[in-house]
Amino acid sequence: MATKKTTKVAVPAVGCAEMQQAIIDRLHKGLGTDKDKANNKAWWNATCQAVNELVFEKLTQTHQNHAEKDTRAVNYLSLEFLMGRLLSNNLQNLEVFDVTQEALKGLGKDLYEICDEEPDMALGNGGLGRLAACFIDSLATLGYPAIGYGIHYEHGLFKQEFQDGRQIERPDTWREYGNPWEICRPESIQFVPLYGYVETVYEQGKGSRKVWHAGQKLKGVPWDIPIVGYGAKTVNILRLWESRAHEAFDWDVFNAGGYVDAQTEKSKAETISKVLYPNDSTDAGKELRLIQQYFFCACSVKDILRRFKRANKEEWSLLPEKVAIQLNDTHPTIAIPELMRILIDEEGLEWPEAWEICQNTFAYTNHTLLPEALEKWSVALFEKVLPRHLEIIYEINSQFLTKVVEKKWPGDDAKKSKLSVIEESQPRMVRMANLCVITAYKVNGVAAVHSELVKTDLFPEFHELFPTKLVNVTNGVTPRRWLKACNPGLATLLDESIGDDWVLNLDKLKEILPKATDTAFQKRFMDIKKENKVAMAKIIKEETGVDVSVDAIFDVQIKRLHEYKRQQLNLIHILTLYKRLLEDPDYDMVPRVFLFGAKAAPSYHMAKEIIFALNKIADKVNNDTRINDKLKVVFLPNYRVSLAEHMFPAADVSEQISTAGLEASGTGNMKFSLNGALTIGTMDGANIEMAEEIGAEHMFIFGLSVEEVKALKADGYNPYDYYYKNPELKSVLDWLDSDFFTPSHPGLLSDIKRSLLEWGDEYLCLADYESYVNAHQAIDTLYRDQSAWAEKAILNAGAMGKFNSDRSIEDYATKIWNLKKFPIA
Ligand SMILES: *Cc1c(COP(=O)(O)O)cnc(C)c1O
Repeated sequence: MATKKTTKVAVPAVGCAEMQQAIIDRLHKGLGTDKDKANNKAWWNATCQAVNELVFEKLTQTHQNHAEKDTRAVNYLSLEFLMGRLLSNNLQNLEVFDVTQEALKGLGKDLYEICDEEPDMALGNGGLGRLAACFIDSLATLGYPAIGYGIHYEHGLFKQEFQDGRQIERPDTWREYGNPWEICRPESIQFVPLYGYVETVYEQGKGSRKVWHAGQKLKGVPWDIPIVGYGAKTVNILRLWESRAHEAFDWDVFNAGGYVDAQTEKSKAETISKVLYPNDSTDAGKELRLIQQYFFCACSVKDILRRFKRANKEEWSLLPEKVAIQLNDTHPTIAIPELMRILIDEEGLEWPEAWEICQNTFAYTNHTLLPEALEKWSVALFEKVLPRHLEIIYEINSQFLTKVVEKKWPGDDAKKSKLSVIEESQPRMVRMANLCVITAYKVNGVAAVHSELVKTDLFPEFHELFPTKLVNVTNGVTPRRWLKACNPGLATLLDESIGDDWVLNLDKLKEILPKATDTAFQKRFMDIKKENKVAMAKIIKEETGVDVSVDAIFDVQIKRLHEYKRQQLNLIHILTLYKRLLEDPDYDMVPRVFLFGAKAAPSYHMAKEIIFALNKIADKVNNDTRINDKLKVVFLPNYRVSLAEHMFPAADVSEQISTAGLEASGTGNMKFSLNGALTIGTMDGANIEMAEEIGAEHMFIFGLSVEEVKALKADGYNPYDYYYKNPELKSVLDWLDSDFFTPSHPGLLSDIKRSLLEWGDEYLCLADYESYVNAHQAIDTLYRDQSAWAEKAILNAGAMGKFNSDRSIEDYATKIWNLKKFPIA
């Protein structure tokens, strides 16, 4: 029955004894310790080093091969890469996980415990950064020549702790004691100018030329992280730039007694790559953030051009053939004027030729329609930090307005001011998204509905001007990390049922669809879910001290905390259930555990209030003996990739409840469904495409559609209408004004109520409340029929083929990059 197929591995099979020897060797020769002295951290380090021995050779081979053939490559520029841990992933992709587990077991060590020693590489905030990480996994797996460029942050996203229910941010020190995966490449250092002024130099017979006299120079030091494709045929790199002072230590200043001055310069320069801005929606508006963006773009563009020149000398017209540069959101937009500046000021090209090259090299991915999240920088700041780039932006803009906009809409100043890269506000601002859309040869949204809204609502005029420029590439997630590695039970069931090549061809999952009604298969599927819940319950107990029953429904919402994602809607539903239970102790409901994980941007007041409220509600509910453990609420601190890897496989219910039209795609939704959770969700982002694949009847779809949201907003939405009409809703909201959850401190949770009433309920929680409560009722009903539930869970997982990042990358490769695979034998 089982149609087991084996995928071929490129790395020579490693035996258990060999792996043992390699790890022991690394303990001795790499770390100067031994088996009896080593702690788990040392074992982790030694195991990583043993893995590197398998990886580095392949890395060199891939690199040589691509360089020799001068293949076209994609350069993925992203300010964020949310990598998580690499050991278990690399072992999986090298297909040596089992043998390593056995090897360590023989040495008295547990591989899972060793893997737990690894700090997450949390160089990202959320979905956008995790997408970049999934994409570079898929690029390597599919054998595409690719390089990821980002910043080597000393501190990744802050570590979240709770103090009396409130979020406290602590620094993340992922590489305090070094990191075995990264290789420093001093031979590829770059220098980055900043500040200063621009001089126009007139040369006899040649006209004028611009010279930027920088006021400061930074040094960019590259750190490479090998990215192992599944099957290890291709090993690409992620290149992360660290900033240092130009002269690490100024001896002249030092000798003249200026030790402190020398140190100040040094630490100022090192600040640039110090921290990841902990905000994924609005820009920090800080000089430092702009310099961060420029620093990493300048280093990356120079690095790209260095490689291009090695093979192509100064044949600049070939650049678009050899190089694709993908901008992950507008954060790396400065790469555009930077490439113009180098081609014109340094390489001596004329404007039209340089512009033609730029227009055929850059593509841009839009991730948001939220107006407050569209990046803008003040012209004054640009002028101070990047004076030459501002001139170039002005010139791009002026040519665009006079040659393109004026031609299409003669005399229409309103159009010009709307499409201009410069916003004529007080102060004047540079609109990064406009610069991207004007320059890029393709602009993509990240789910079908989002890409349509980009055309119709966000950039309708650009769409009229450039009718083939705006396209869609629906997001996806890597099945290696998000199924094979994080859910070994389900992966094994799939291997045995449909063969093990689903890992490389996720469409194969549909072969389990006929088994959805097979009771034996259902039982195995649900047993695996139960085991994952047991493991999760243990983590919950360790982390929070709360006991949860694995017979309860695990209802999970994990994602950044944002009002548009509507954790507060989930909150008022929980209060609704709690109130029902208090009013009627016999209230009949399947026990439910509501699990949350979310970080809030440190400056986002309302997000932090929601975390506080959920923690206070959790305290009360979890200790209320009257409700017979029918309800538990747990907010796990410090949501991150490695925690997510335990939560997705343990979830019964996936909360994807954003206001329709606001979640560009979502990728958490895909990870849940892939692991057999049922979705309660709005028709938003990729939920819509998931409903197409799964069948909406196998999900719990509720709430207003994109069109209905628009209509309601246009009509003038009034949350009080819902408040007064629904007594249960009213009583729940009024509860927030009492001191029930914050004894002797009434009003501590009132801001949540205010945001939903007085402040207008921007995200329409009250409008969707009733429909949401009903959908939850349907979940309760279905769960009582375990076989019916199992059937739907299997239908969900089996329908996820489309949502894997290999498919996304194939879409980018054909629709945008025109990229060819270059598999290494
Ligand atoms: C997948 C993922 C996200 C994105 O979740 P959404 O629900 O799509 O917002 C954020 N953070 C982590 C750690 C993830 O793994």
